[in-house]
Amino acid sequence: MKRRNFFKRTMAGSALLSGAAGMTASSPALAQGQRKDVLIRESGKYDILLKGGHVIDPANNINSKNMDVAVSDGKISAVGRNIPSKDAKKAIDVSGLYVTPGFIDLHVHVMFNLKGFVGRSIIADDHSFTGGCTTMVDAGTAGALSFEQFKKNEIDNSRVRILAFVNIAAPGMTEAEQDPRTYDIQKAVATAQSYPDIIVGFKVAHYWTTKPYDSLHTPWANVDAVEEAGRKAGLPVMFDWFPRPASEGYPMRSYRELILEKSRPGDIYTHHYARHIPVIGEDGKVNPDVFKAQKRGFIFDTGHGAGSFVWRNVIPAIEQGFISDTISTDLHGKNTNGPVINMIHVMSKYVASGVPLERVIEMSTIKPARVINHPELGNLSAGASADIAVFDQLKGDFEYTDTSGAKERGNKKLMNMMTLSGGKVEFDPYGLSVPYWKDIPKGEDYWVNQSGQFF
Ligand SMILES: [Zn+2]
Repeated sequence: MKRRNFFKRTMAGSALLSGAAGMTASSPALAQGQRKDVLIRESGKYDILLKGGHVIDPANNINSKNMDVAVSDGKISAVGRNIPSKDAKKAIDVSGLYVTPGFIDLHVHVMFNLKGFVGRSIIADDHSFTGGCTTMVDAGTAGALSFEQFKKNEIDNSRVRILAFVNIAAPGMTEAEQDPRTYDIQKAVATAQSYPDIIVGFKVAHYWTTKPYDSLHTPWANVDAVEEAGRKAGLPVMFDWFPRPASEGYPMRSYRELILEKSRPGDIYTHHYARHIPVIGEDGKVNPDVFKAQKRGFIFDTGHGAGSFVWRNVIPAIEQGFISDTISTDLHGKNTNGPVINMIHVMSKYVASGVPLERVIEMSTIKPARVINHPELGNLSAGASADIAVFDQLKGDFEYTDTSGAKERGNKKLMNMMTLSGGKVEFDPYGLSVPYWKDIPKGEDYWVNQSGQFF
């Protein structure tokens, strides 16, 4: 088929106009398969139309091939079959690809300039869209005293949506986490109430894992404080927490107590496949307490990170039906080059481990949305923000590392192709949304050389 896409730039500005009436041709053989070229028109009731994808939207019970998703004014307009390409300013062929809500990563660290931070944050926009992620939830990098700085510097200046758990230690994720005198319940609650659209709960982490207990550093000081904040604000809390044997006259600090007694339904344990968590017993069986906790509505979140995803725990757990409620990365400066990389890479590990794709999507979209009381996110309902992931599922031989220096083999891999955030294409390295270069007529800006001359 002959290519007949014509583009010209208006004198006024930026819109690419197409004079073609919809003639298309196949792209050159892409590694990702043959698709039709993007169709671009001057007008149309939709801004973008994603044509012919396999839509998985668990919130709306959709798992169906050959579906179209229409976007206008940054929102989802319609999901259905045979929505005409001529109704869109830009019709993008996504046949052979999956189309799902943009992913919600329940655990990241994106407050870049926290003084004394025990880790290193990442720049949110640089590591979100690459992995299909459109909402990042910062897991307690900031506390009540540093939250406004976080909001001003990062949250308000990022294209990806950033929500946050506030650390119960008022300075944030610094050495203050070791000092119960910094656990300011009142300030944490007041901060959450001042920013109800951003703050989704409270966080504790890293507290007193090996040092001897004393009258200040009691076993449950952080858990008791964060639970009180959670109850007062009516918000969930997220635990990063270590079990310990009895010592200094204090009784054992057990995982069972945390997940079945100290916590409320809706609270979250992040890092639940970590080495220090009793996931698999001596008999090779899943700890029955975690099933009981899941039954009471306690949430187990991946929090992969640099130390919390061990195949020795993951595979037997998944085989016996103990599967994370939500998938998250715990992205920080020490895992972006592996073993985490980004959200879709962690999702690939679940798919490769045999968890059905639809469930993996649910664990990365509507489930985390509900956990943080933002059910307006993580779905493709009409009127929802047009946060969309478009990806391929590759079949072949793939290997995936864990956080303890081992790997697992699998035969699937998810490969992100395009991410839309609020209706805007933020990630498209394979050019689904742009024309073939030879189709752009001479005289277009594309053909301007470095000296500013048109060819
Ligand atoms: Zn973390």
